[in-house]
This record gives sequence, structure tokens and C-alpha cells, in this order.
Amino acid sequence: MTALIKSTRLLRPLGTRAPALLQAQRRRFTSDRAYDVSDADISKLANLPQHPLRLADLVRHGRPPLSERSLLSSANFTLSLAPIRLAHRLQALQNLPYIVVSNPNISQIYNNYLHSLSILLPYWQAASEGRAITTLDDEIKFTNVLAELVATHTDTIPILAKGFLECRRYISPAEVTRFLDEHLRARIGTRLISEQHIALHFSSQPHFDPGASPTPCPEHPTYIGVIDTALKPSLTIDSCAGFVADICELRYGVRPKLIIDGEPETTFAFLPMHLEYIVTELLKNAFRASIESKATEPIVVTIAPEPPLKQQEGHLPDIKPPSEELGPFKYDAIKPLDDNAPGVTIRIRDRGGGIPPDVLPNIWSYSFTTFSEDQDIPGSSGNDGLSAIATASTGGSSIAGLGYGLPLSRAYAEYFGGGIAVQSLYGWGTDVYLRLKGVGKVDQK
Ligand code: ADP
Ligand code: MG
Repeated sequence: MTALIKSTRLLRPLGTRAPALLQAQRRRFTSDRAYDVSDADISKLANLPQHPLRLADLVRHGRPPLSERSLLSSANFTLSLAPIRLAHRLQALQNLPYIVVSNPNISQIYNNYLHSLSILLPYWQAASEGRAITTLDDEIKFTNVLAELVATHTDTIPILAKGFLECRRYISPAEVTRFLDEHLRARIGTRLISEQHIALHFSSQPHFDPGASPTPCPEHPTYIGVIDTALKPSLTIDSCAGFVADICELRYGVRPKLIIDGEPETTFAFLPMHLEYIVTELLKNAFRASIESKATEPIVVTIAPEPPLKQQEGHLPDIKPPSEELGPFKYDAIKPLDDNAPGVTIRIRDRGGGIPPDVLPNIWSYSFTTFSEDQDIPGSSGNDGLSAIATASTGGSSIAGLGYGLPLSRAYAEYFGGGIAVQSLYGWGTDVYLRLKGVGKVDQK
């Protein structure tokens, strides 16, 4: 894998050039239309500004009825953002200490980014020469490229976790957290714009059939791409709690009880996959704490809908439509949507004994965990994080151990203006407040 990055400045310190065989290997690794990415391509793209993604951007292109024009517009919007975002990530990886980027796991991630950029660049190049995505045929090919991109980066987190664990002698935990925080937040956005276009592509199919229903997707009428405009957090909590209880039953032989109170009927417009990720991680922590402290009280989840904020003059940031920044890409300019969207606060309360004061300052660091395999597995060598990584990289889920749950959940929550606050009553229990901002009224016109 390391060989694949030979042509970039990454391995320049060794003064080697990639032998022809390795170049050929690299070409096989990439798809038909792949492009040989040079350092100049990366720095040119990385010098372009990264457009901050808003939920409103994602909804605008998919508002019903979805026309061919809006699908093409969405494709060009995605194309105008994704290569820049990938180049920024490549540059951030290049800037890590040399010994860290040479680690096989980290360089695998580097190569994944390089590969993704190489399959997008032909489209970028064409758009720069005035040939944007203008036909449904082009759009289908482009959607396939996006699907490949999403699949390539699926296992990034356990691979990066393993890489940084292996490099812990060469890079401080603070530096790792700084890098991962930026990297994983950016990854959320890049995946989202790709996943949104893929979802719009599939939901659009019935619309080009004249007799089809005008809803975004006949089976999920409240969805716009990956956004559910009537997401009910109580249902997400119920299903995630079932999943986490299954893990607990396997590991500890018990299923902690969970009660939902507040206003379980609440709905708001949000991303089900983000809510699921966050709620699963927070429930794992609450369930684990309850079991380890032998608490008999149930975990209580309170759902509190927020009333809409009063609209104030000048409240909306004046964001220029990105088309002004990226001339050649033809997509409809987006006006900011109503920023006055109601949000939801979810409080997860456990009686699991709280967080010790010496642990509390570390809980937001990537890789920090108090979980130890040898707690109930005799003969195990203690926690080096590797068993959680092994479980995560095979697509499984362990109750804890990677130390990514809280910081990554916070990154997801903050992505669209929400947040997570942890309030520990040491000796008693923990309250976690998850606040999420909704997407706002979806303009149907
Ligand atoms: P992991 O669960 O893999 O350890 P997290 O980032 O989810 O990683 O949590 C980091 C640490 O924060 C946990 O190991 C635990 O010590 C502490 N923690 C988080 N939530 C709770 C909670 N509800 N009760 C007690 N401790 C908690
Ligand atoms: Mg956790």
C-alpha cells in the first residue's frame, strides 16, 4: 500500500521515484477513468476554499417534486465541493510527521483519498472546461463514482485508530485529537454530500416516469435524500437501545432497562444516520456505566422539543451562493433557508456512578477510554484498544474501548449547530445533554 503514494511529496524524503511496476499497480487500483493525481493538483485544489455545508444546502436540491434539472444541479453541486474537500484532507495527512504517514494504516487512508480524488478529477477537469454534468447518462456515471468513494472510506475510523495507536510514541495524544477532530468532521461533510446525491439519485427514479408520485420517495414520503423531515427521536432511541441491550446481554448477560419520557411524539427534520450514531454511542456509555456500577435504576431518556427561536434582524449569516466562487459549475444558487428551525434536546440520565474527576478532563480525547478487556475476561492483557479496533473493523460493535464515542458524537452533533454536554454527579450518575438543530421549514415551491 505504501507504494501507492510514491509519486507524491509524501515519500520524497527518501528520494525515490515510483518504479513502473508500482505505477501500473496503482493504475489497476483505480477505476477506468482514474486520473494520475499530482502534488500540483492537490495543492491547487486545497488552495480553494472549503464551502461550509448546511443542512439547507442538502435539502434545497432535493425538494419535491424532484426534476431532472434539480438532480443534475445536485450532481454539479456535489462535484463542485467533493474534490476540494478530498484535497484538503490529503494535504492535512501530508502534514503529519513523516513517520506517522509512513505507518501502513495511515498510508492506506492516504491512498484511499488519493484514489477517490483520482476518480473525481476527470469530472472536475471536464467541468472546468465548460463540460459540466448535463445529461442523465453523465449523472449515472458520476453517481457510480460517488458510490465507489463512499464505499472506499467506510472503514476509515478503525484503520486510523489502529494507525495512531501504533504511532503513539511519535505523536502526542493532543496532536492526534487535533488532527482527528478536523479530519473526522470534514469526513462527515464529504460523506454526506456524496450520500445525499446518491440518495436523491435513487429516490428520483420514479419521477422521470410520468405517472409517478411527486413525493421524494414513495416508501419514505418524509425523506429528502438522507434527511428525514419528520424524524421521531423516540423511535431511533428505542431501536438503538434494543441494539445496545443486545450487546450488553452478550457481554455481561444483562439488559438494562430504559424509559423514554418528555415528549416522545416530537418530530423534527434531521439525519437519521447521524442521530443513530450519536444515540448508540451515548447509550453504550450509559448502559456500560449502569452495569459496571450494578445500578438497578433504569436509564431515563427525556425528549424536549425546543420552541422556534424568535427571528432577529441580521440573524441569518450572509453566505454567498457557492456558484459565485466556483464559476464553471452549473447548479442552482441556494439561498439560506430559515435558520429559525426548532431543535430537540435529548437528555440521557444514568445512575451509573458518574465520572471520576481525574477521568473527566480526558473524555473528549480520541482514544481515551477507561474500558479494559480484563475486567471480566480472565487472562486478557488489558486494554490496548486493539480488541475494540478488531471488532469495529469487522463491522461489529463492542460496548466500549475505542475511545471515539464521545468526541465523534460531539463532532456529529456540532456539524449542524447542535452540541453535547456531559454533567457528571460523581458517586451518583451522569446526565448527557444532546442538542440538535433541525433543518427548518422545507420550501415546497
Ligand atoms: P469508550 O466508551 O470507548 O471508552 P467514549 O469516548 O465513549 O469511549 O467514552 C470515554 C470515557 O468516558 C469512557 O471510557 C468512560 O470512562 C467515560 N464515560 C462516558 N460516558 C460515561 C457515563 N455515562 N458514565 C460514566 N463514565 C462515562
Ligand atoms: Mg463509548
